[in-house]
Amino acid sequence: MITLPHFTSLETAIHTLFGEEIKIEKTAPISGGDINEAYGMILSDGKSIFMKSNTKENLSFFTAEAAGLAAIARTEAIGTPRVLGVGTDEGRGGFSFLLLEFISAQNRNGHYWEEFAGQLSEMHRASTAGLVPGGKYGFAGDNYIGRRRQINRAHDSWISFFRDCRLEPQFRDADRYFDREDRKRIGSFLDHLDEILVEPDSPSLLHGDLWSGNVIAGNDGSAWLIDPAAYVGHAEADIAMTELFGGFPPAFYDAYKKAAPLQPGYERRRDVYNLYHLLNHLNMFGRMYLSEVKRIVGRM
Ligand code: ADP
Repeated sequence: MITLPHFTSLETAIHTLFGEEIKIEKTAPISGGDINEAYGMILSDGKSIFMKSNTKENLSFFTAEAAGLAAIARTEAIGTPRVLGVGTDEGRGGFSFLLLEFISAQNRNGHYWEEFAGQLSEMHRASTAGLVPGGKYGFAGDNYIGRRRQINRAHDSWISFFRDCRLEPQFRDADRYFDREDRKRIGSFLDHLDEILVEPDSPSLLHGDLWSGNVIAGNDGSAWLIDPAAYVGHAEADIAMTELFGGFPPAFYDAYKKAAPLQPGYERRRDVYNLYHLLNHLNMFGRMYLSEVKRIVGRM
């Protein structure tokens, strides 16, 4: 388990982390996030830090994100912002916050995609010891995918984990979109999931929400991972997600496959992994995702 500092006000956090004499000099909103408010803050000693905030009730968004970032950082495979702390503050009607190292985005270096693929495969190969108490797949606590809860209960089988903790809860919440025929098809699809998915050779730490908006070029021009929905699973679920909304350039996939060949039959499994994210979008944003969900289930 990863323990992290929890502060009872933003001011206390700044004083504890940087010194009693340090103040926030300037706060500037950063756009681009879906869920939270994001800010760059300049401190009186010239340092920059990054802050996300939400309502006080949503503090668990940040403790969960911090646990994911810390797990990624622990692999030492790839850049990810250092977690400074989380907390709540009674000011401005009350808010929760997550403080991170500031990434001053740069242009991508010349080998960005190949290097990113190598770093991601190294993260996927890193030891997952201690990340899933009581099992091989899952995570120490639940977290969030978008604004919805993602269940990470420990399982010893990847296929059972993906059925119980990923697909089933999403199908259950989307039940109103389906008729009797659909439900029968979905039931049979879930019952036969072990004929489609495969167990990995070894478990991997996954970013969990690996679309292009969550990979940014960091201070050194190489790829940094932000905003994870981390858990331990099959590495190919991360690769599948990269292909869902547009995909990365071929150089990324070529280099990843060279570093860590995908097991045969990946293309079919990719759609099943992405079904989870499509269902999540269906549950968050509505029926424009329904036809794609039905198409995938109908084809399996
Ligand atoms: P949300 O949780 O709302 O989706 P994101 O994690 O995507 O928010 O962050 C919002 C924006 O802030 C991103 O588009 C990204 O460019 C920027 N960002 C995220 N983390 C950092 C960081 N540590 N330093 C600087 N900018 C960041």
